[in-house]
Amino acid sequence: MSPHNGPNHDSELDRNAWSGLGRGLRQVCPACNEGALYKSYLKVNDACPKCGTELHHHRADDAPPYFVMTITGHIIIGGILMFEKMYQMNPWLQLAIWSPITILLTLWLLPRIKGALIGYQWALKMHGFGGSVDDEVQFIPDAPKTLA
Ligand SMILES: [Zn+2]
Repeated sequence: MSPHNGPNHDSELDRNAWSGLGRGLRQVCPACNEGALYKSYLKVNDACPKCGTELHHHRADDAPPYFVMTITGHIIIGGILMFEKMYQMNPWLQLAIWSPITILLTLWLLPRIKGALIGYQWALKMHGFGGSVDDEVQFIPDAPKTLA
């Protein structure tokens, strides 16, 4: 068990980006490698149930679906083209084969990719994982207006 306990441990902890990515891929806490990252399919625990590291700081937002679409698209389109070249299948058979594979691959990848992004954000101390909050975007009322 790692020596860091409590929700606000920080600075001296080694935060390796690759281990953060790997732990996120395995859907465990990036800090202790033991606690569950999710409380349900894609719902991130507010804090690690094992070590107490705050996980609510993550800002995965819509990045995971973009990565999942890119990965899935390359695999599925490559597979379709390869099958077409090798077997000249009926398009309906291709559709029957690749549609469920696409859905299952997407659902399998999504929590893993999201976890990897959260682990990466944790490793780089982004969005409050480093102990400070992001800078707020400031509204400057007297800013000069640009002409488009
Ligand atoms: Zn933990």
